[in-house]
Amino acid sequence: MQKGKINVQTENIFPIIKKFLYSEHEIFLRELISNAVDATQKLKTLAALGKFSGDISDLTIQVTLDKENKTISVKDKGIGMTNAEVDKYINQIAFSSAEEFIKKFKTKSESEMNAIIGHFGLGFYSSFMVSEKVEIITKSYQKKDAGAVHWECDGSPDYTMDESDKKERGTEVILHVAEDSKDYLEEQTLLGILKKYCKFLPVPIQFGTEKSWETVEGEKDEKGNDKQAEVEKPRIINNTNPIWKKKPVDLKDEDYKSFYHKLYPYSFDEPLFWIHLNVDYPFNLTGILYFPKVKRNLEVQKDKIQLYCNQVFVTDSVEGIVPDFLTLLHGVIDSPDIPLNVSRSYLQSDPNVKKISNHITKKVADKLESLFKDGRPEFESKWDDIKVFIEYGIISQPEFYDRAKKFCLLKNVDNKYFTFEEYENLVKPAQQDKDGQLIYLYATNQHEQYSFIESVKARGYDVLMMDGILEAHFINTLEQKLEKIRFTRVDSDVVDKLIKKEDALPSKLNEDQQKTLKEIMEKQIDGKKFSIAFESLSETELPLMITQNEFMRRMKDMSALGGGGGYGFMGEMPENYNLIVNSNNPVIGKLIAEDDGDRQTATIRQLFDLALLAQNMLKGKDLAEFIRRSAEKMGNE
Ligand code: ADP
Repeated sequence: MQKGKINVQTENIFPIIKKFLYSEHEIFLRELISNAVDATQKLKTLAALGKFSGDISDLTIQVTLDKENKTISVKDKGIGMTNAEVDKYINQIAFSSAEEFIKKFKTKSESEMNAIIGHFGLGFYSSFMVSEKVEIITKSYQKKDAGAVHWECDGSPDYTMDESDKKERGTEVILHVAEDSKDYLEEQTLLGILKKYCKFLPVPIQFGTEKSWETVEGEKDEKGNDKQAEVEKPRIINNTNPIWKKKPVDLKDEDYKSFYHKLYPYSFDEPLFWIHLNVDYPFNLTGILYFPKVKRNLEVQKDKIQLYCNQVFVTDSVEGIVPDFLTLLHGVIDSPDIPLNVSRSYLQSDPNVKKISNHITKKVADKLESLFKDGRPEFESKWDDIKVFIEYGIISQPEFYDRAKKFCLLKNVDNKYFTFEEYENLVKPAQQDKDGQLIYLYATNQHEQYSFIESVKARGYDVLMMDGILEAHFINTLEQKLEKIRFTRVDSDVVDKLIKKEDALPSKLNEDQQKTLKEIMEKQIDGKKFSIAFESLSETELPLMITQNEFMRRMKDMSALGGGGGYGFMGEMPENYNLIVNSNNPVIGKLIAEDDGDRQTATIRQLFDLALLAQNMLKGKDLAEFIRRSAEKMGNE
């Protein structure tokens, strides 16, 4: 028996590890199984190179829960370790990296520490987070007849190393679970963790209780192996060959769809389409990204992209790794080249991660472009579902805009779709103002803005439907990108002034008359909410109209959405509208000539209510009163 001290200077390394890793304890299992998988893959590689000729037909890793003895064990049939290797890798390297880690981060506060640790590679020693004692029993593939090793450590720097009578090649790690970690001895808990991290590992993982491996004395199964007892059969918990590792030519649509449902068992929608990623230069990346049907409320985003490193689940918070707008997608990304074991801020500044992110953006753009080119009707039919991704991409990623301008669509109120170029050509003849600026008119609600839409259509103008959640930001971005184009909502001004064609008509009211009428009106109308302005429009336009300034409304919409670029204060501002008086409408002429004060007041009230009605703003008590008054008036006529 060899006794020794683990090569660390810090005596109290384990309590520190335990304390700081509190929230991440469960990953001990991921780390142990990853080691077992690595040892197995190494053996396979050696066999492929002709350097190992033993039996590799069954390399299943067995995870065993023994509730009675309070142990969890992970047993592989991989390369194993010699005595010298245990000494080197376990006694020296593993613990010295643990120590280094502690030293490096000791100066940081607890919360900083937690943030860093979440993605730090913990390795073998993470098993001490949940154990009062850990044993390793291992036999190397190398020397067939050389003895096996039994290593044991209780979490202090002291360990023992002894011979073992283990016959088979490979490593077994036995955790004696500590009292404060006994939750992990619950079968469902352990199985849950296994399923989370190991679902797609490349080596079969079997889970069972200590009874599962019992054999029936003297009996053999059909293959000639010892017959397994019929109690508590072990289960394989993983799919070793997930579809993202396969070639797209070998896969059917059904395969992609059924994988989607395996990833997100609670989602009933079919994905709209998907992109199979397969890159091996200049970095290695595989995966499948799905475009899901997006619900209007984006905050319920429980289904996320899952990140894997060599088929080991790492995280489903991929911010900083994929471009923001693509975090709305679903699916799997697997790359050994993403430095997964470090902090998030490090990740975001990593040049590899940046390259990966750009590459994914490019692949997504390629796919969308080919869908558009190869099947426009189909693309249009999916547009309403995918436009949020594309608009978000255009807003947030300049490189994406350069690609998306070819296939991004605009939809008008008649449900026709146009590319940017097509739309410009469509409206150019009619919608240029006197300064040569092209005005794009849009509506955000077909019913509420009905009268405005109709009146601009009557002028021969086209109206876009902009009813998405990101529209205010999107419009702003387009105005910056598309030269000489300005967007304005159909109700942002009176129709004559939406697209200014020529100078205004002469007014039939002189300045004194306007001033007098304004004073009378101000007594009845809330001046904080409505700013009264006179316009000399055509006689056939309504006498009073309510409009809302495009700029003010858009700023307000953006601040409501958040991230409006410093317009946060706009959300606090009261709603503000323009009340336009058409000084050329004959009713206004009559109103100013009226000498009965009561009748004048009543007319103003009626005209104002009509203007509110046109904007869908007459509600509740005011609406009821308007109806009663109107009916009464008919009786009086
Ligand atoms: P890492 O896996 O990051 O190298 P670990 O602390 O987890 O760090 O493991 C240290 C070393 O111990 C490994 O690199 C490997 O050489 C050896 N090792 C750990 N587990 C096993 C195993 N199940 N079979 C063979 N070797 C192992």
